[in-house]
Amino acid sequence: FLEVSNLVKSFGTNTVVKGVNFAFEKGEFISLLGPSGCGKTTILRMIAGFERPTSGSIRVDGEDLTHLKPNQRKLGMVFQAYALFPNLTVGDNIAFGLKIAGMPAEQRRARVEEMLKLIGLPGFEKRFPYEMSGGQQQRVALARAIAPKPRLLLLDEPLSALDAKIRVSLREEIRAIQQDLGITTVFVTHDQEEAMSISDRIVVMNAGNLDQMGSPHEIYNRPSTRFVATFVGQLN
Ligand code: ATP
Repeated sequence: FLEVSNLVKSFGTNTVVKGVNFAFEKGEFISLLGPSGCGKTTILRMIAGFERPTSGSIRVDGEDLTHLKPNQRKLGMVFQAYALFPNLTVGDNIAFGLKIAGMPAEQRRARVEEMLKLIGLPGFEKRFPYEMSGGQQQRVALARAIAPKPRLLLLDEPLSALDAKIRVSLREEIRAIQQDLGITTVFVTHDQEEAMSISDRIVVMNAGNLDQMGSPHEIYNRPSTRFVATFVGQLN
């Protein structure tokens, strides 16, 4: 369903993604895991269309997206933090993409209500982002991303700005919503515990290369390189 083939990205002479290949099934929750600077965000940004690959291709549901603009890709994205429109209400934030897609006002209202229920914030339509906690804002960002029913959900360290307790409860919520909707999701994180707890499969990145791809169980019990063993915590 999601196929990345021979993906390469160079910034000038610095090659940060060095020929990465992976393929995932519809409905899977995939984590791109690795230390700072390994290229995981760059891969996500190429899938989203914010960066152009130096070479290689990205296909979703059989369609080659490599040369499409971000808004032609039918993807939803949640960033690290502070990405809501600050001057729009929660309802208008969630409805933003629906309006662009031409959905009539009545349907938009219904969808916003449905999304707010899904994220556990019913009745929050008229609030503004600054009136809400970081965790609540990230829930709204998730609702905004999934409201137009994207075929792929991209999450770029959406929990990293939150405190530890909320991070754990929100990741469980994200996972539950993802499974409920069956939406294929790519989650970028440098936190191995987070990736292990939430993913169907994990791609471990090391300096621009894919070191290993597998279920959390496989990665933990049969690390294919010393780097993976160290990074997922078997070796220290
Ligand atoms: P982090 O969690 O710190 O974001 P990452 O694994 O997601 O790490 P990337 O953000 O993909 O890593 O960055 C990989 C490398 O590419 C880094 O060395 C970074 O400095 C470099 N890089 C990323 N974007 C650009 C850019 N627009 N121009 C030049 N170099 C860039």
